[in-house]
Amino acid sequence: MAEDVLQELQAHFRGAVVARDGAPDTTEPRAAWNAMHTDSPAIATRCSGAADVVDAVRFAREHGLLVGVRGGGHSVGGLSTIRDGMLIDLSAMRGVQVDPVRRLAHVQGGALLGDVDRETQAFGLATPLGRVSETGVAGLTLGGGYGNLNSKYGLSCDNVVEAQVVTADGRLLTASADENPDLFWALRGGGGNFGIVTSFTFRLHPVGPIVGFVGTFYPLADLAEVERRWRDYVEDAPREVTSFIVTMTFPAAPGMPDVIHDRPVAIVGGVHCGEPEAGMGVLQPLRELGTPLFDMSQPMPYDVMQASFDAFFPRQTLRAYWKSQYLDVLPDEAIDIIAARASERPGPMSLVNTFHLGGAVHDVGTEETAFPERSAPFLVSFDSMWTDPAQDEAAVAWTRSAWEQMRAFGTGAPFLNFTGLADEPLDAGVGAAFGRNLERLRRVKTAYDPENFFRLNNNVLPLA
Ligand SMILES: Cc1cc2nc3c(=O)[nH]c(=O)nc-3n(C[C@H](O)[C@H](O)[C@H](O)COP(=O)(O)OP(=O)(O)OC[C@H]3O[C@@H](n4cnc5c(N)ncnc54)[C@H](O)[C@@H]3O)c2cc1C
Repeated sequence: MAEDVLQELQAHFRGAVVARDGAPDTTEPRAAWNAMHTDSPAIATRCSGAADVVDAVRFAREHGLLVGVRGGGHSVGGLSTIRDGMLIDLSAMRGVQVDPVRRLAHVQGGALLGDVDRETQAFGLATPLGRVSETGVAGLTLGGGYGNLNSKYGLSCDNVVEAQVVTADGRLLTASADENPDLFWALRGGGGNFGIVTSFTFRLHPVGPIVGFVGTFYPLADLAEVERRWRDYVEDAPREVTSFIVTMTFPAAPGMPDVIHDRPVAIVGGVHCGEPEAGMGVLQPLRELGTPLFDMSQPMPYDVMQASFDAFFPRQTLRAYWKSQYLDVLPDEAIDIIAARASERPGPMSLVNTFHLGGAVHDVGTEETAFPERSAPFLVSFDSMWTDPAQDEAAVAWTRSAWEQMRAFGTGAPFLNFTGLADEPLDAGVGAAFGRNLERLRRVKTAYDPENFFRLNNNVLPLA
């Protein structure tokens, strides 16, 4: 694109406009998390606020540019990576402002989870967010948002009370229960289809500063037994408890005992978000599901706990392909498959995870928000992660075959935040994931983005 055309965009822009062929610039966009997605765009706009986003959208439309939008860059399927066209990067928009009286947090569209936890915890408050603090608030929330407070306080998207959105025609709209309610409905689970969210307002809850935390390491060989007992526990657990099981080969991490170094383990994780000492008592059975190799369960600062998995997920290091599936029940036969697959993971950093879902997540009706899955109590995720490109094919094939095997027990519906669509058509899985909300999503898409300007996402097609 000619220099003078770009200057037209730069004239009012407060952030940076970086052309791939231009002079090297220190204001590179935030790198994507998945090392399989390294493409750089023809033009990157690093916006400083909503007005820059409006200008970037209008400019891209005027010049017929394909647009990618990057919040935290953690899309496993590379949905915020673009080769030609314009990347609208929000990494300079990380502001978080807490209103402790009304228990609200105003969060800019490029904030990371850790940015929010840090500011809200200063007031002893929190909103449900995910389990790796470098993940982007925007992508996570627009896709639902599972994390450690779900059972008590619902999904991340359930706690959004308002959003500021730049739509495909370059307008800056407010979406809430009172203003543009159809857009508000679609944003809560419908992904990045409807516009660029420049700011969310989240409802906050009293959490911490200390919470009950369980992190108990069992030998992977015991997973089938451990997971059966875990299932029986979580089905009757109080809402304060949110729990999951991760299987991995634990690295020789400094400060961790030798007994788990380079050893395949099943980690039973969980949080009790009420009074911490009482919470530890409630969590105690999770520490006795078998004979632990190591147990790091203890009352823990909430923000420390929220970042406790970060070291395993460095940006632009791991190649990744994930695929997940909901289960209405978790019978012994399904657990046996999970255990068998976990024992033959294609590499040490590949994970098989089982998440328990319930409580407040199930209080919301299927059609109340765009996020459709409100009854399944379990989510199983096969997360291949590796570093050598020569393993791409084998790792992807392993995830796909494990996922297919789980279909015998699963609903067939994936959780779109975890879906690695690396080399699949972008609309794969969208119909199954949105179920009966798809038609309404398509109507909202038609109203706000009839030409499918925002299509690098789990794409909902406008009606023809
Ligand atoms: C290590 C890791 C841990 C994770 N843990 C969890 C977890 O605990 N719980 C969970 O629910 N998910 C989790 N996820 C999945 C994660 O929520 C999704 O990948 C999510 O899309 C990431 O959001 P992002 O903003 O970082 O991603 P990006 O790659 O920036 O964007 C993802 C999608 O959202 C769109 N988007 C981003 N920002 C905006 C915006 N401001 N407005 C409109 N559209 C936007 C993009 O265009 C793209 O389609 C995890 C992912 C990783 C890699």
